[in-house]
Amino acid sequence: MVNLRLNLKQDELKCENCGVKLSEDEIYVREINGKEHYFCCSHCADKYEARFKEGVSSCC
Ligand SMILES: [Zn+2]
Repeated sequence: MVNLRLNLKQDELKCENCGVKLSEDEIYVREINGKEHYFCCSHCADKYEARFKEGVSSCC
């Protein structure tokens, strides 16, 4: 038998644009397409939103 340990840490948030860790005090939240996304700053939110709107391939 295999025991899988699932550690779901809801408080472990990362900036969805640059991947930096976010602390609760420093989270920039923006709603995009009806869903909340978390970023470290407004610049990352802007970039993420721009990419999101372009629609797009996963290519960089
Ligand atoms: Zn960021």
